[in-house]
Amino acid sequence: MKTTLISLSLFAALAIGGCGSNDASTDASAPAPSASSDKGGSAVVVAYDLGSKKKGDKGICVICNKNEGTTAEEDVVETLDYQGKTYVFCNEKEKADFISDPKKYAKP
Ligand SMILES: [Zn+2]
Repeated sequence: MKTTLISLSLFAALAIGGCGSNDASTDASAPAPSASSDKGGSAVVVAYDLGSKKKGDKGICVICNKNEGTTAEEDVVETLDYQGKTYVFCNEKEKADFISDPKKYAKP
């Protein structure tokens, strides 16, 4: 008579719990200051330092840049100081367009 005892001890219950670090900082209300979603992706600068452009200089017309994507410098016919920047225009009408709706053309 033989008695065989097979004892199986399985300890498969290893619970890896999350450590209890209390990170209570929820930055859900952080506003994105400037969503850089430049349509057209024109990275050209059309806003010049204040007073750095005047009639007769060469510069990129902000209206033409906005409407046609022009990045070529042209003869500056009109200038306008707006929010600490100088914008240049290739004709009077476009300057008027800018004044009528500056936010449309001026970059933040
Ligand atoms: Zn123009």
